[in-house]
Amino acid sequence: MSASDFIYLDHCGTTPLADCVNKVMQQYEANNFGNPSAFHHHSGERAATSLAAARQQISEILQAPFDGIVFTSGATEANNCILQGFAIKHQHRRARLIIGATEHRSIFETAHFCQKHLGAETVIAPVNARGIIDLQQFQEICARDSHRPTLVAIMHINNEIPTLAPLSEIAIICEKFDYHLHCDTVQSYVRQPLSLLDLRVHSLVISPHKFYGPKGIGILALRDGAKDAGITSLIHGGEQEFGLRAGTPNVALAVGAAAAMQYHEQRRQQLVQHMHACQQTFIDTLATENINWNYTVPTNTQCAGILSLWFPGVNAFDVLAALPEICINRGSSCSGGGEKYSHVHSALGLPIEVAANVLRVSFGDGATVAQCQSAAQKISAYIRERSRS
Ligand code: PLP
Repeated sequence: MSASDFIYLDHCGTTPLADCVNKVMQQYEANNFGNPSAFHHHSGERAATSLAAARQQISEILQAPFDGIVFTSGATEANNCILQGFAIKHQHRRARLIIGATEHRSIFETAHFCQKHLGAETVIAPVNARGIIDLQQFQEICARDSHRPTLVAIMHINNEIPTLAPLSEIAIICEKFDYHLHCDTVQSYVRQPLSLLDLRVHSLVISPHKFYGPKGIGILALRDGAKDAGITSLIHGGEQEFGLRAGTPNVALAVGAAAAMQYHEQRRQQLVQHMHACQQTFIDTLATENINWNYTVPTNTQCAGILSLWFPGVNAFDVLAALPEICINRGSSCSGGGEKYSHVHSALGLPIEVAANVLRVSFGDGATVAQCQSAAQKISAYIRERSRS
């Protein structure tokens, strides 16, 4: 199957690399190979200058200090760095991690790891049927044991359901108790401009491959800079990344990440409009085809391009197997597709037979509006065919 034979509707999973970003990275690689830590000689100095320029550009966009931008291998590592780093730093006082019930697995599993292996206590903040944190219960959880070193991790926009967190209310509660507020902004940065200051968070993470940038790099932004972030490094060795992540940095990826962010800042609005148009066309087509389907959580204009739905009586695996040319997903990509159902859908209180059969369709530049219509027609034809047999 060639690329032109499939319809890509899995943009929450990843996105194609933008040509302009690819060009910037290739140009860098063609002309540079130096190790940025060897800045005393010409080759190293060139690499160090490029790395610093990328860091500076990103710090300006996110309103973070220069020494508060830490490059990692992805958002998964950045989330691990924060949660485990906090748990280790405060191990002697038994750190507490309060996390949302629908967090990405890189938070969810890491928090459980911290409880099992690092002596932390992990508390899950429940959500309502739309996936929104219950503020009353959140406030009560926060008020308990408030003398303990506590880190709160609440994601901004969910990657499986179109849910936006009430982050300003959460920030006010965290400020009251002086808790570290960490926010996974991987999906929200795609959809809205944001900064550490606007969100009033201590730390956030971003993943460039979600907005047409390279894979293999993540950005951890720290409001108080790396040294005063209150976390212990997980990777030891050299002093790279302000002592938070030892190892020779991949400068081409850092340069690509900065280029992707600059590109995205200019065209986010246009992209979001395209996501809305694709999503609407997909929904309208399902309606025209008169197919029986339901949302798990209704669409949300602030979470453009994320559809979470199920077809009564239809097994989600069967849809994926029957239509491999339509690239959609059951939940998040990181489960590897093996999970019976996602913890996100189960946190919404969906019955198991529904939770196990949710499909996520996520829109972006990898598909045209016409392709979205065609995908909805093909899915409808399959559902119709099945209900006849
Ligand atoms: N957080 C969210 C909300 C995501 O959607 C993803 C990607 O699936 C991640 C974290 C992990 O990102 P990465 O692929 O950069 O490790």
